[in-house]
Amino acid sequence: AESELLRAQRFESLAMLAGGLSHDLRNILQPLLLTAPMIAASDDAELRKHGELVGDCARRGLEMVASMLSFARGARVEIERVRLAALFDALAMLLRGSVPRNVTLVFEKPDEELLLEGNQTELQQCLLNLCLNALQAMPDGGTLTLSAVAAQLEGDFFGEDESPVPGAYLRLEVRDTGMGMSEDVRRSLFRPFFTTKSDGTGLGLLSCKRIVTNHRGYLRVASEVGTGTTFTLYLPLATVEGAPENAALPRGRGERI
Ligand code: ADP
Repeated sequence: AESELLRAQRFESLAMLAGGLSHDLRNILQPLLLTAPMIAASDDAELRKHGELVGDCARRGLEMVASMLSFARGARVEIERVRLAALFDALAMLLRGSVPRNVTLVFEKPDEELLLEGNQTELQQCLLNLCLNALQAMPDGGTLTLSAVAAQLEGDFFGEDESPVPGAYLRLEVRDTGMGMSEDVRRSLFRPFFTTKSDGTGLGLLSCKRIVTNHRGYLRVASEVGTGTTFTLYLPLATVEGAPENAALPRGRGERI
């Protein structure tokens, strides 16, 4: 499981690099493609040949860039109905080998079946990143809690800095009792390659954010030095097939905010 985990993370980093590179390359190749016909229109036969060659190369480069971009965007990611219970089960299994003896792992889940619309593998990867970070923040042990509850978001839910699309969401919390982080670190969390670890990549949280955003969700952080950190994900709930909208939000049990 460990090596599969590493492979997944390496793949994710690779996808991010490919994405960044593709954008830069496209900006370099596009002007070439536009200039090539002007050279190819020259009266000089030699220059015409060079112009055509430049055009062909630029075209081939841009095709490669396009396929790299679709790789980076995960063009093959399938959208499916994801059961919260299945997500938690998979996560428990993935974490099994990584939770040290001095850490208690707690799952808090509602009795109702909650459904998400998205890609289970991606969501797993995202939660796993958050859990592994949480474990690394608790070198002396502690408690890692994963909690899930249905929540209704209104447009002003996050205050001034972000207005969510109102609706029924799953609120997922990854909570640790670890070292927490300073205000400076908190502000830099989602910067590519930002890490405070000697062996960190600084891509984990960025990739989490990408996954959550792709799911039309929201990712929030609260942290206190010496007390711990809570990452909160809000992911849109899927509606139950054939049922009226928002049926997946359990009445009375779902937390209203
Ligand atoms: P990496 O884990 O490779 O450093 P991430 O993007 O996942 O990259 O995290 C960036 C930084 O955010 C970490 O180096 C760490 O300083 C901080 N961080 C992330 N999660 C936590 C957490 N649960 N508690 C304390 N700090 C954290």
